[in-house]
Amino acid sequence: LPGDPRIDSIPREVLHACYTKVSPSAEVENPQLVAWSESVADSLELDPKEFERPDFPLFFSGATPLAGAVPYAQCYGGHQFGMWAGQLGDGRAITLGEILNSKLERWELQLKGAGKTPYSRFADGLAVLRSSIREFLCSEAMHFLGIPTTRALCLVTTGKFVTRDMFYDGNPKEEPGAIVCRVAQSFLRFGSYQIHASRGQEDLDIVRTLADYAIRHHFRHIENMNKSESLSFSTGDEDHSVVDLTSNKYAAWAVEVAERTASLVAQWQGVGFTHGVLNTDNMSILGLTIDYGPFGFLDAFDPSFTPNTTDLPGRRYCFANQPDIGLWNIAQFSTTLAAAKLIDDKEANYVMERYGTKFMDEYQAIMTKKLGLPKYNKQIISKLLNNMAVDKVDYTNFFRALSNVKADPSIPEDELLVPLKAVLLDIGKERKEAWISWVLSYIQELLSSGISDEERKALMNSVNPKYVLRNYLCQSAIDAAELGDFGEVRRLLKLMERPYDEQPGMEKYARLPPAWAYRPGVCMLSCSS
Ligand code: AMP
Ligand code: MG
Ligand code: MG
Repeated sequence: LPGDPRIDSIPREVLHACYTKVSPSAEVENPQLVAWSESVADSLELDPKEFERPDFPLFFSGATPLAGAVPYAQCYGGHQFGMWAGQLGDGRAITLGEILNSKLERWELQLKGAGKTPYSRFADGLAVLRSSIREFLCSEAMHFLGIPTTRALCLVTTGKFVTRDMFYDGNPKEEPGAIVCRVAQSFLRFGSYQIHASRGQEDLDIVRTLADYAIRHHFRHIENMNKSESLSFSTGDEDHSVVDLTSNKYAAWAVEVAERTASLVAQWQGVGFTHGVLNTDNMSILGLTIDYGPFGFLDAFDPSFTPNTTDLPGRRYCFANQPDIGLWNIAQFSTTLAAAKLIDDKEANYVMERYGTKFMDEYQAIMTKKLGLPKYNKQIISKLLNNMAVDKVDYTNFFRALSNVKADPSIPEDELLVPLKAVLLDIGKERKEAWISWVLSYIQELLSSGISDEERKALMNSVNPKYVLRNYLCQSAIDAAELGDFGEVRRLLKLMERPYDEQPGMEKYARLPPAWAYRPGVCMLSCSS
């Protein structure tokens, strides 16, 4: 049961409860506002003047309580790297409360790095500036790429130092502390359900209660599902299994969670985002990207890229594995609902099947658009990805450049690669032939579309970003911020608000990583943050 909000952050197992009341307790000394998102403030209907208040950083570092708020930390569990890890929970995230805006949207505000909770286990409940800048910027960058994500309202420094074990020399380091205010309609994760099911018969009712809560607040269309319109879906197994989603709201809900997850992962693949830690406690039931730790956007295309040093050598969470890991995680989620008798085995299987179908549909549609093809063409897409992997072609810049190819069959062979010159670097004669052959087949396919080169270019550029938050860009902003200059954080935020626009003068932010980006801790990070 929730304990005393002021003193109760002793690490412990929290049984038969979904959360614990706990107050922010991070020490602060003259906390400063580093940056804030106008877009999130707008969603919360927060007046920009609020950010100028001298006491703003006190509220958003947790030093001054918000009137009327009852802060709490959530209990959840999860599978980490494929192994059941038991209770995890909000070890350093504390929810301040929810804002209901005039559109009746409910937004939860959460401070990340605001001190210990009962779920902190062996750790300090704090966050450093380095990882907070990454979470702040990437939350907003993903949103503006059009990818579902938790958001970030603001970033404040605490004025205190935090000790961290850096992985590359093993020596502890003092780093500036910071707090991000994360915002989402809900932070519920697959692990929020798993933890209660894992505790046996007695707690299965909690799984049901929490499922009812999620459906009531966040899946209202399912709550209001009209049972008389009997929609049933064939599972594709023509002999039997037809699952009627109107007869069981939990099955309908699980299918929607699976489909949102599938669609999210497809969008990550499209934009070259590798999450890095796809444990089931980092899987949102709303299908949001959640928990920005050692994430990374692809630079040179490498399907086995993982940004997480903790993920070596298995590479469970590498770029190319994300779709399968999404399915593995959905399997854990549906098993949990089945254990709580909310869905039966047939429905659980159907949930996984729908993940697979949705993923393939979305992924194919996304790749078709990225290439500007008139219709999905498996051969052209897989040949391209293969070529890109062989020649380690920059993922973002290649697709941006591809829109310059003209669908003109009369272009002589030795000029075919001209539009791609800047992204096909150092390729030998033999590889040149492979690329020419691919461009020829690509042009053939484009010719059947009947749309003009200009129109296709505009469409392609609206899905292929010019600017993504590459790890080295984050690192430049971090290096400056650690010296007290937050200008680059703010510049990157503005830049990443329009990732599909050319933004003349900002081209240097679309450059390939410089040599220093390959030093430890820039493109590869540990979970320690
Ligand atoms: P993650 O790998 O970021 O998903 O974190 C896994 C678990 O560790 C979650 O329960 C986090 O709340 C917890 N955790 C991570 N860092 C800290 C920290 N500095 N203090 C307390 N708990 C933490
Ligand atoms: Mg996490
Ligand atoms: Mg984390």
